[in-house]
Amino acid sequence: MALKNNNFIEIQNLSSDNGLKVVRPAFIFAHPDDSVLSAYYAMWTAESFGLDIVACCGFPATDVPGDWDVRCNFKSALRACGTRIEEHQQVCALTQNKFLALELLDSQYGGSGELAWADAWTRTVRALQDFDARLVITHSTRATHPDHQYVACFARRLARHLNFLSLTHVIGRILGASRFL
Ligand SMILES: [Zn+2]
Repeated sequence: MALKNNNFIEIQNLSSDNGLKVVRPAFIFAHPDDSVLSAYYAMWTAESFGLDIVACCGFPATDVPGDWDVRCNFKSALRACGTRIEEHQQVCALTQNKFLALELLDSQYGGSGELAWADAWTRTVRALQDFDARLVITHSTRATHPDHQYVACFARRLARHLNFLSLTHVIGRILGASRFL
């Protein structure tokens, strides 16, 4: 990665014998706007570009707006989901990052069960392997939003399973981002 930051330089050095190999980063966040807000700079400046995996891109079965939809002036949950995903697709296209939308449900719509998480696990493992990622950047494990906590746990388990590095706090430190991310 091209970041002029000690954390990433250290990661580069860990990635190969001579420290010159570029680490391909993958971002795993709960909601479409989370990675834009918290990892935007890293996504923008990653030399080899990244893979952005967003967990909660599932559409609820009924079109009842959730709490966050209402706060954002949406009267339709389906329209809120569609708009957030579409905006995120545009950001990823602009920053030349690949985007994988998992179909888990946002907790404001009741969340997803074990089968959906198992399917998300399979799809994510395949995507990380296909992309040849070596580093996963995700939410803080101390995040207060339940979706952020679940996804932080999911991403760290994936990183252990695939023997990747995982980072949860670095982006927050770089950007001075909110502890809620
Ligand atoms: Zn979020």
